[in-house]
Amino acid sequence: MPPRKHKNKKKHHQHQAQQQVSPVQSSNKSSPTKMEGNTESCDSTSKQLPYRIEKSTVLGRYLVANRDLKAGEQLITEEPLAIGPCVSADAVCLGCYMPVKLQSAQYRCSACRWPMCGPQCRGLHQPKGHTAQECELLRTHKLGEALEAIRDKPDLVKNYYELILIVRIFLIKQNAPEIYADILQMESHTELRKSNTELWQYYERNVVQRLKGDWGMAALTADEIHNICGILDVNCFEIGQNSAKARCLYKSAFLLAHDCCPNTAHTDDPQSYAIILRTSRAIRKDEGITLSYAYTLQGTLKRREFMHAGKLFWCCCQRCTDPKELGTDCSALLCPKCKSGSVRSVEPLNQSAAWCCDHCDYALKSVEIVKLLDTINLNLESIDAHSIPGLEGFLKKYERVLGPNHYLLLSAKYSLCQIYGRIEGYLLHTLPLENVQKKENYCRHFLSIINVLEPGLTRLRGLILYELHGAIMMRSQRLMMAGGESRYSAVRTHWFE
Ligand SMILES: [Zn+2]
Ligand SMILES: [Zn+2]
Ligand SMILES: [Zn+2]
Ligand SMILES: [Zn+2]
Repeated sequence: MPPRKHKNKKKHHQHQAQQQVSPVQSSNKSSPTKMEGNTESCDSTSKQLPYRIEKSTVLGRYLVANRDLKAGEQLITEEPLAIGPCVSADAVCLGCYMPVKLQSAQYRCSACRWPMCGPQCRGLHQPKGHTAQECELLRTHKLGEALEAIRDKPDLVKNYYELILIVRIFLIKQNAPEIYADILQMESHTELRKSNTELWQYYERNVVQRLKGDWGMAALTADEIHNICGILDVNCFEIGQNSAKARCLYKSAFLLAHDCCPNTAHTDDPQSYAIILRTSRAIRKDEGITLSYAYTLQGTLKRREFMHAGKLFWCCCQRCTDPKELGTDCSALLCPKCKSGSVRSVEPLNQSAAWCCDHCDYALKSVEIVKLLDTINLNLESIDAHSIPGLEGFLKKYERVLGPNHYLLLSAKYSLCQIYGRIEGYLLHTLPLENVQKKENYCRHFLSIINVLEPGLTRLRGLILYELHGAIMMRSQRLMMAGGESRYSAVRTHWFE
């Protein structure tokens, strides 16, 4: 298998699955804030819009603010040009993208036999769902039966679902050439993909051959199929609300450049699948408008590797360039030799650069760092995300190895922020004051980092502020009950301290 976009998905990071990774978009470019290369405005009609398209020799096309923008301004709302299931072995309804089972008891489309949520699915024979034309194609080639036969083979199931959106794009080519032309405007990185033999052969075998063979699309050329695969990998956004999951191409949103500390956030409309993109903080006139599809709560070494695997480019944004990641130091390790220094990459834009202590001569090769991070990460992944003793144990064990702001410690704290006060045995009203205080401290620590990495009106900040509010209210109430302090002064003291 070639590297896939979501191979690094972590349960402790699921909060970001919608906000960060889902925007699996962008082209071969990172933060345009520096305006590298020659730039030119290439859309004279864009004066009225809050943004304009710029073109640079280094960055390609990207969006720039036309005026000073406030935090929370809505920039883009647009329905998808194309929508289909995600590349995943988790089966979904072809009409509405809600999860379905592959078992025989699952309802199936009466014509093509693909599993669907039910006969009343709102997406049956609808343009953004399971169209009659798609149904006919799947029926003709007996692909519902084929899917049933491979239901115990997750790799094949995943591949079948991957093919659906590609098929839909070729149906768009027949039925709506103007939309197909818009899609062809998007970057596919075909040459780079070609040079990655493993990746290219995966698509040749599992997409090109399969579509032209069993799926009856012999008239397509291998080149056009590879081109669409590249466009989807580079430009798709993963969206979905209330358990639905789909991937979409949007006409303008794909133009946002990537930045590991983005200035926009997005959500989507569960009815129309429109993307709704807002500024998350104030953006100055002429500043680049950016989005991140990497986990913001991940260190530079891993984040860059993840983006390179999925998008075929090495991010060189301000955060990636700074060994201390905008001052958060969220990748630094504690020095095991002198015990007082911090170990970090001496050259963060070079994946194989050594990691050295800033106090003594201790150094480690980057492959060793990767090995260490993978081991610790596996350890974190193996802990039930609802186990307070498990996560507390993790913190205790690795506080001696990782720097205080390390993203893996923060990841555990993120889970703890949310489960203290919420799970059986630890409900807020029964929680000892000491643990209420702990929840509050974790929230404050997490916020201090995320205020830098994902500042402004972001879902992640909202979520933690909400948890912090719960902890402060509970602590104030306890103090008030214990000491007769007035509710007002208790809340006032603890909220503003
Ligand atoms: Zn459905
Ligand atoms: Zn059907
Ligand atoms: Zn970056
Ligand atoms: Zn040292």
